[in-house]
Amino acid sequence: MTDDAASDPRYSRQVRFAGFGREGQRRLASAHALLVGVGALGTHLASHLIRAGIGRLTLVDRDVVDASNLQRQILFDAEDARLGRAKASAAASRLLATRPDATIDAHAAEFDVDFYERLGARPDLLLDGTDNFATRYLINDLAVRDGIPWVHGGAVGSTGTGMTVLPGETPCLRCLMPSAPPTAETGSCETIGVLAPAVAHVAAFQAAESLKILGGRREAVTRGILHVDVWRGTHGIRMRDARPDPTCTTCGKREFPAIGVSSDDTVRLCGRDAIQVRPPAGTRLDLDALAARLALAGIPCERPGPVVRFETEDCRITVFAGGRALLFGIDDPMRARSLYDRWVGAR
Ligand SMILES: [Zn+2]
Repeated sequence: MTDDAASDPRYSRQVRFAGFGREGQRRLASAHALLVGVGALGTHLASHLIRAGIGRLTLVDRDVVDASNLQRQILFDAEDARLGRAKASAAASRLLATRPDATIDAHAAEFDVDFYERLGARPDLLLDGTDNFATRYLINDLAVRDGIPWVHGGAVGSTGTGMTVLPGETPCLRCLMPSAPPTAETGSCETIGVLAPAVAHVAAFQAAESLKILGGRREAVTRGILHVDVWRGTHGIRMRDARPDPTCTTCGKREFPAIGVSSDDTVRLCGRDAIQVRPPAGTRLDLDALAARLALAGIPCERPGPVVRFETEDCRITVFAGGRALLFGIDDPMRARSLYDRWVGAR
């Protein structure tokens, strides 16, 4: 496959582009990227990379598809939303329909240090498709620690930003932002909305940066921060050719604060009327047994893929194989925990 990639007719237009060429295609065919978050940016990015001929793509996302996602999350359809399919696996099946020979590892899971360490082989690239700074700092710290390039992206309202981090060569996220800005300052998709073209613009930037890195053309990587506003029609690169800050916690002191932080077992999902509850590490839950328990209690459940879905006390609950659950229509973490313990009980 790797040897033939440069002659594969599916990639002929891309190979013809001199900046990428046959060598870029061959390298891409043996490259592995880890995409964190398969939402708005993530679905665009995954589509670009799979169509471009990446060898292996690992997808991780903790959420399920909702009707409000369809405006901008291009790999999902109305049926995915109706069934509440896990985003990672719904995206993977769509991508495989486009390119059946692709290697795609889909994980309906939380991205944390344990997940990353369990992956085994280190990816060649980390991609930010997330919607929160806690995860971005974790990606940043893992990438700088392991010397792996990563591409940041974010979009809200009509605006977006993007930046490539080449550890040791360009500033990392902490060089520019030692701590996360408060959401009240930046706004979120929930509070001020987001336009799909702003997402598409940032994802296009991230995908192009990925092709340069994975195609072996690091000299072409954008050295600076992309700022775009699709409503005002502005697009520019700021802080061009900046270097890593020697006083940065991560780059300078080689400290990685996000790696030591264990994530909460009960968290509110950004932009969703939902709370995630996680069992202790290493818990296994038999979904068949759970479905049987619910049936005994007279609670109907659905099995759209490797999850169990049911509704009780005005709360919709989706349970994944590892015991992790998303509870919708609820805003009190204590009540979520209590409902979880009562009905799922993977402890
Ligand atoms: Zn830094």
